[in-house]
Amino acid sequence: MSQQGKINVAVENIFPLIKKFLYSDHEIFLRELVSNATDATLKLKHLAMIGEANVELGDQQIEVKINKEDGTLHIIDQGLGMTEDEVQKYINDIAFSGAEEFLEKYKDSAKDSGIIGHFGLGFYSAFMVADKVEIITKSYKDEPAVHWSCDGSPNYTIEPAEKEHFGTEIILHISDDEKEFLEESKIRELLTKYNKFMPVPIKFGTKTETLEKPEGAKKDDPAPTKEVDNIINNPNPAWTKQPTELEDKDYKDFYRELYPMQFEEPLFHIHLNVDYPFNLTGILYFPKMTADLNVQKDRIQLYQNQVFVTDNVEGIVPEFLTMLRGVIDSPDIPLNVSRSYLQADGAVKKISSYITRKVADKLKSLFNEDRAAFEEKWNDIKIVIEYGMLSEDKFFEKSDAFALYPTVDGSFCTWDELMEKIKPAQTDKDGKTVVLYASNKEAQHSYLASAKAKGYEVLLLDSPIVSHLMQKLEQSKENVTFARVDADSVDNLIKKEEEQISKLSDDEKETLKKSITETIADTSYNVQVEAMSSDSAPFMITQPEFMRRMKE
Ligand code: ADP
Ligand code: MG
Repeated sequence: MSQQGKINVAVENIFPLIKKFLYSDHEIFLRELVSNATDATLKLKHLAMIGEANVELGDQQIEVKINKEDGTLHIIDQGLGMTEDEVQKYINDIAFSGAEEFLEKYKDSAKDSGIIGHFGLGFYSAFMVADKVEIITKSYKDEPAVHWSCDGSPNYTIEPAEKEHFGTEIILHISDDEKEFLEESKIRELLTKYNKFMPVPIKFGTKTETLEKPEGAKKDDPAPTKEVDNIINNPNPAWTKQPTELEDKDYKDFYRELYPMQFEEPLFHIHLNVDYPFNLTGILYFPKMTADLNVQKDRIQLYQNQVFVTDNVEGIVPEFLTMLRGVIDSPDIPLNVSRSYLQADGAVKKISSYITRKVADKLKSLFNEDRAAFEEKWNDIKIVIEYGMLSEDKFFEKSDAFALYPTVDGSFCTWDELMEKIKPAQTDKDGKTVVLYASNKEAQHSYLASAKAKGYEVLLLDSPIVSHLMQKLEQSKENVTFARVDADSVDNLIKKEEEQISKLSDDEKETLKKSITETIADTSYNVQVEAMSSDSAPFMITQPEFMRRMKE
């Protein structure tokens, strides 16, 4: 006997509304339906394991199938299925009331671009692309199979069905303006995007596999082939495993799996794994930082229980780490909220600071384990580290353990080593330690030579944000100031007494100084004649550090 009923929603026709609201994001229906199929499969597996379901599980795979002639898309699972009562409860009551609640909550904001764009719409999202949806399902509980059908109005029918095996088949009658979801390439693209690492094997069509030639086959005989299921996902991605199970090669292979178009190897990885006070797993990679960071397409991907959510992790990962690659998987990140809410969310804040700490710890251990190798990578990673020091105080605090300061001679010191080296020689009249640096070895050559001749240590600081970093260091470190080698303060350092044998008389010096000063005609510069050591230039033009920074 067939039954009819009316889905329990207040809004007379909710479907066109939701379709409109979610227009830009309608492709997520497939993710939702495959997620449901996965849940059903894992639930049955669990019930079987604890002895509540007495069934032969079989291979438990999920199949996605297109029937072009009928204009239908099928999602078939071998999960726990539903009895008639359960269809009534979970589909008619809960799924739809969930949708109604959604509409109530988001009708004003759904179009707001601040919303992440993925909602837990669940089963209901099928109506974004289909004008009729059918469910054929049979519970593992040995009750008759059920056929549920709904044509996009709140009216549904429910009747007995023929189905031998437990599990569920969802049939979407794709609507005319959504025909792209009947294209094999489109469905493959979506499965690859959202379901690539889901925990149950997903079959989409078949593929031809080449087999070994049988023994005694002739050279020209074609190798035999076989049609096999085309499984589109890897149900056990590296980040779900324990770090102890994985070797360096596994991490590199996974990087390639994530970013098939990346040919450059990552510099190193960080395996994230925490289950208290929040749940988070993942692997982050430090890529070689190239100049065109802004056009970077391969970004960190966010998953929830192995289901792809987004590759826009802004607000979840500290900004300086968005330059990294890899995956983060956490069920604890609220998704149907705006970005500004996200940033204020307590759990998200904790996640963000956990990630920062892990990255700092990793850098520290890399530095300690093999300093030479770390120095070699420095130029490729310094942008991230320097940016992190500037933008995250927690990271800055830890950075003394791994941040490097390169000298003009090509060696590297840590902050402490630098201080050790330059105190007390590089101290000014106020007792401040003066860190000398060059930003361009060629342009500042003569100043450099002069500073070296006096025995000063000079850093080579040439990255784009270095002036901000110096400011930060001046503010945070006690009694330290930075001066470029051509700054006048270099000459104000308390010097070791030096004999100066001048080749010019005092009168000649004065004349020379006057004529140079007039030529420059900029009062912010100072001119010194032969104030430096004898093997450098005969005169030097300097400028106060603050004047130069002001002009920059
Ligand atoms: P959610 O997955 O968040 O619970 P959905 O709207 O996606 O919400 O699904 C509603 C309910 O319908 C599920 O909780 C489940 O009980 C049932 N359901 C949906 N799809 C299936 C399926 N393929 N097999 C068994 N039950 C299903
Ligand atoms: Mg669901």
